[in-house]
Amino acid sequence: MASVNGDGRRARRVLVFPLPFQGHINPMMQLADVLHSRGLGVTVLHTRFNALDPALHPEYAFVAVPDGIPADVAASGSIISIILAMNAAMEASGAVHDVLASVLADGPAAACLFIDANLLAVQKVAAALGLPTMVLRTGSAACFSCFLAYPMLHQKGYLPPKESQLYTPVDELPPLRVRDLFFSSSNNHEMVRQVLARATETVRNSHGLVINTFEALETAELDMIRRELEVAVVLAAGPLHKLSTRGNGSSLLQQDRTCIEWLDTQAAGSVLYVSFGSLASMDPGELSEVAWGLANSGQPFLWVVRPDLVRGSDGSGLSEGFHRAVEGRAKVIPWAPQQEVLAHSAVGGFWTHNGWNSTLESISEGHPMICRPQFADQMMNTRYVEAAWGVGFELEGKLERKKIEEAIRNLMKGSQGELARERARELKKKVISCLESDGSSSLAIDKLIEHMSSL
Ligand code: UDP
Repeated sequence: MASVNGDGRRARRVLVFPLPFQGHINPMMQLADVLHSRGLGVTVLHTRFNALDPALHPEYAFVAVPDGIPADVAASGSIISIILAMNAAMEASGAVHDVLASVLADGPAAACLFIDANLLAVQKVAAALGLPTMVLRTGSAACFSCFLAYPMLHQKGYLPPKESQLYTPVDELPPLRVRDLFFSSSNNHEMVRQVLARATETVRNSHGLVINTFEALETAELDMIRRELEVAVVLAAGPLHKLSTRGNGSSLLQQDRTCIEWLDTQAAGSVLYVSFGSLASMDPGELSEVAWGLANSGQPFLWVVRPDLVRGSDGSGLSEGFHRAVEGRAKVIPWAPQQEVLAHSAVGGFWTHNGWNSTLESISEGHPMICRPQFADQMMNTRYVEAAWGVGFELEGKLERKKIEEAIRNLMKGSQGELARERARELKKKVISCLESDGSSSLAIDKLIEHMSSL
């Protein structure tokens, strides 16, 4: 067992096991930080795939768990396939049982194991060992409501989606339309159905659910989940990155901090931050349209171009001409300290893929958004941004430089952007109040600690 560092002096500890993707690792480690700040020791279980760096958290213990993900599946980049393969391998091998038993035998008593909803195999092993599990949902409450409604969505014929019905409202889940639901645009509907059914089973088998959202943002969706689920507690304890005092110490990629110095030189509210998260990708033609849309907008911008952002290319693919055109008013970097960037006073808007963390991080800083969702829950997050909260608008259809240029002007200088900015500032006030000591998210953490001591 590879246990490194760790605070063995604490009388009680919590175990955490995130799904090994950036958007799932960040909130789980933020939750761990919050629990650690309340006096619990932390042991982090992690897969070898996208393994965490223990050096970033010297006070936690780290334990690597064999994940059994076949190399070709890992290389495929298909999250759905990776989740299913990993669970299947873990169920078949008994390795998780051995690791967990040895973790429990060694060190302070464990209050519970916090797991990602996609780790049903781990939940089953914990139950067999008598270790209570709690689930952290790293997506929105609306997203988990959609998971719960998935069988109904099939029964009523909303899914699998038909081309002619993409804009049909889903009356049971307003304001969603069929195109906003969690589904796959390829043909693996059965795999998606399995993953969602297993995620809800993990939650139903556990002793509580924590969702990275806040009460005032998703009141109706949280009510729906509480009515539907028979688990002991359903707590809205987000935005977790704002409750964690340690900053983003769980980045899988090296963050380029020179962008903060660059932001320091820019006028307040002038910079558009552009990032499509850790997984979304585009083809070289789309990259070129985005680049020239940004260049022609005349707006200062900070753009994250991950090394693997462009399909079929091993470099950024940006031309000399583009770099010349934007010299002095733009910065392109491979990976950003995003939460710090969004909190910087020079940033005035966010062009995002609407992963849930990015959406919540943007809301927390009061920024309006241009939304360009690609898959999973990103479409429904966009729909909420646009139709429920009014803090941004979608850039739909083919990526074309002229459309991009107009959307950027609209967001940064136009009346639509101004209205979205006003609403975003209002939402930011609600974030601030949910984080106060008597605010809903702080109280949710109090309740969580109390609940964990009763397990
Ligand atoms: N992120 C970051 N640097 C970047 C881009 C993203 O640190 O340059 C972080 C971001 O703050 C967020 C996470 O990566 O916490 C991405 O999660 P999200 O749910 O937004 O999208 P995903 O990557 O899962 O699609």
